[in-house]
Amino acid sequence: DVTSTETPNDNVRSPVDTTKPSISRVYDVMLGGKDNFAVDRQVAEMALRIAPDAPAAARANRDFLRRVVRHLARDAGVRQFLDIGSGLPTQGNVHEIAQEFAPDARTVYVDIDPIVLAHGRAILAKDGNTTVIEADVRDPESILGHPEVTRLIDFSEPVGLLLFAILHHLNDDEDPEGIAGRYRDALSSGSYLAVSHFHNPGDAHPEVSAQASSAERLFNENLGTGRWRTHDEIVSYFGDLELLDPGLVPLAEWRPEPDVVPEQGITYYTFVGGVARKG
Ligand code: SAM
Repeated sequence: DVTSTETPNDNVRSPVDTTKPSISRVYDVMLGGKDNFAVDRQVAEMALRIAPDAPAAARANRDFLRRVVRHLARDAGVRQFLDIGSGLPTQGNVHEIAQEFAPDARTVYVDIDPIVLAHGRAILAKDGNTTVIEADVRDPESILGHPEVTRLIDFSEPVGLLLFAILHHLNDDEDPEGIAGRYRDALSSGSYLAVSHFHNPGDAHPEVSAQASSAERLFNENLGTGRWRTHDEIVSYFGDLELLDPGLVPLAEWRPEPDVVPEQGITYYTFVGGVARKG
């Protein structure tokens, strides 16, 4: 049961395998989306037993993404966005948020999962300033030099590089720190790096830490990835870029809407984010 995802512009090459769970589709289940299969829903159900707040975590991440992209497009003047590990289109996609505040904003979505490309077609069809490519974050050169990326992104101008909920899908032996560094090096001054990442609070919150470890086991058994890292490990991905206030914090604490009081549940301690500027 394999769906072909060929498109005329040849950005899509691989078939979609509906017999194995995929990260983007399990995440889609958590967000209440419809682009998933039985095998994904089974993993999502298992995850919910260990982490009943997983849908809240997914929503907190999308809310963080919205506040970050709005800040970059509206307040920081960023006009080009590279969103790696972008996931399936959902409500409030990066290009939509950016264009709300900067109609000329350009966005390239990158994901390893061919289903993301298949669903990106609708976007490709009606927006020349937005595109989707299939590529692997672990191969920065193939992304930075991709013709669709260089068509829309001018690396001599500020870029918003978005690594939301993607670096925690790289294992330690895949050198996430080195990979983040290769992308940082490609950015011009005035660019921004935004990261959201699963977090293990360690001894500060032992019960939450144990839950993070259980979730980590479940993810690795079913999806083959998933690392809940320490604050220091995640901070290292920003290198010598300058973290904007309030730093690397629980997602809900990153410049919350004025009327929102962050709820201090499991998600609060296990999912963090930050934005840094290249000087
Ligand atoms: N960035 C979106 C967000 O934060 O809402 C989606 C996050 S989703 C949890 C992670 C995405 O990363 C999935 O769509 C998955 O296919 C993609 N992904 C996982 N490993 C990848 C890799 N090596 N290269 C590119 N994308 C990858």
